[in-house]
Amino acid sequence: MSEKGTHVKPITLHVDFCISSGACVLECPEVFALGDDGVVSQIDPQPADDLLPKIRQAAAVCPVSVIEVADD
Ligand code: SF4
Repeated sequence: MSEKGTHVKPITLHVDFCISSGACVLECPEVFALGDDGVVSQIDPQPADDLLPKIRQAAAVCPVSVIEVADD
């Protein structure tokens, strides 16, 4: 199951800890957004493989480590 164009590793959002900084949205708006309640959500449930670097960068900049991306 590693065909080109398949979706990336599962993403887990520990939303209870989101402080609504918006940093992840700036890094990867294709996948992350803030809702009206100010809490992050994953707007693309099956992002393309080529977004993985941006997703990992979003996880890296989150000040409270809300975004967890499964390892290879
Ligand atoms: S970077 Fe982290 S704390 Fe900021 S909005 Fe995204 S998930 Fe929430």
